Amino acid sequence: MLCLACNETTNSKTTSTELTPEEKTDKANIKKIFDSALLHGKSYEWLRDLTSNIGGRMSGSPEAALAVKWGEKVMKETGLDSVWLQPATVPHWVRGEKEVAYYISNGKKVDLAIAALGSSIATPKNGITAEVIEVKSIEEAEALGEKAKGKIIFFNRPFDDTLINTFQAYGGCVGQRVFGAKAVGKFGALAVLVRSMTNRLDNYPHTGTMRYEDIPKSEYIPTAALSTVAAENLSNQLKEDPTLKVYFKQRCKNLPKEKSFNVIGEIKGSENPEKIIVVGGHLDSWDLGDGAHDDGTGIVQALEVLHIFKINNIKPKNTIRVVFFMDEEQGGGGATAYADAVKLTNENHLGGLESDAGGHTPRGFTIDANAGNRKLLQSWKKLLAPYGLHDITKGGSGADISPLKAEETTLVGYRPDSQRYFDYHHAATDTFDKVNKRELELGSASMASMIYLMDKYLENPDSVKQ
Ligand SMILES: [Zn+2]
Repeated sequence: MLCLACNETTNSKTTSTELTPEEKTDKANIKKIFDSALLHGKSYEWLRDLTSNIGGRMSGSPEAALAVKWGEKVMKETGLDSVWLQPATVPHWVRGEKEVAYYISNGKKVDLAIAALGSSIATPKNGITAEVIEVKSIEEAEALGEKAKGKIIFFNRPFDDTLINTFQAYGGCVGQRVFGAKAVGKFGALAVLVRSMTNRLDNYPHTGTMRYEDIPKSEYIPTAALSTVAAENLSNQLKEDPTLKVYFKQRCKNLPKEKSFNVIGEIKGSENPEKIIVVGGHLDSWDLGDGAHDDGTGIVQALEVLHIFKINNIKPKNTIRVVFFMDEEQGGGGATAYADAVKLTNENHLGGLESDAGGHTPRGFTIDANAGNRKLLQSWKKLLAPYGLHDITKGGSGADISPLKAEETTLVGYRPDSQRYFDYHHAATDTFDKVNKRELELGSASMASMIYLMDKYLENPDSVKQ
């Protein structure tokens, strides 16, 4: 008989006979995991609390310090075996007063929506007024040479809308944001403006980090993001009036580094407590919105994994550890602190799972592991596909757990649908109301199912039974 809902033949023995007894147990447990996330999940209310009572939480800020306390509180309330704070050193950059930008052309002044980029220096107090050169790439900017002197360099390469995975489009453009200032500061350019990293055409600038790296301080120039609407307006007007001038002012500042923390909790393994599987996201965010999709959803989903284990009385063989990493956005101070501690204490990490791609509908996972373990994880597709988890492929895990990479450590990235993520990413629009409760909870359950299977089946040479 054909089931109209799922278009699959039901009432036949094929489905059940394909599963081994162990897999039947897994199937039942995964069903329990999804049921409990959808009926008793806490992630949505945790996210509401974090985003509405603390909001944006940039590394080093008072809000980030409150978020650390919040993280510790919710982990303790979840009844984990232990909860602790791990010190990390993080940057402290402040945006300062609202940025101003406009162009003047044919006697007309037209406002441009901008936001300073993290780590950027300020403009001089009274701002910068200069002619603009538009480029589409770092290479094109480098080729300007002395022509860049005294000019504002405007990086305007848009996302490639033909790429189905929007993270690939982001990857193809984000170099302009991160390294634009480094490319032209040495030629005496006065500033960099960069088109926002989004497919969407709207008037919200998307901030994000930039780096001067090892260039001399004399070559540091201020850098800001333009909304895509502002970028289009400026580009169009430059075609008509190539000598138009842009005025631009921002008062951001790099303050001394701050001491902050990763928030960590765990359920001890019943058989191999010394073997660890870590699940996490990042606690810090940008300041323009309230950091809902990036990465509030990731941390509440990670904690929900342990909550689901608790309420279903799933006792993991290995230790399952949740980490709310600090400072993913502005340098990875938390990831470094965590990886350093792992090295120092020689901790054995079987694997890790990171959620830092938004809280939209689950699609699957990307796997960074040796071929054997990758095949093992891909063999679970038959258990996961009924929940929409069809894409289980080779790929990166995430910025916070990737420093744990080792031959026997299986690292996994949670991959929700990416079509709307860059509508909100690093912009004022990244707020709680953009998160759908069911999509968030399905993501928590997807992650809990992955951790359940990793805990049950992943082994490393120390634990292989002969
Ligand atoms: Zn993020």
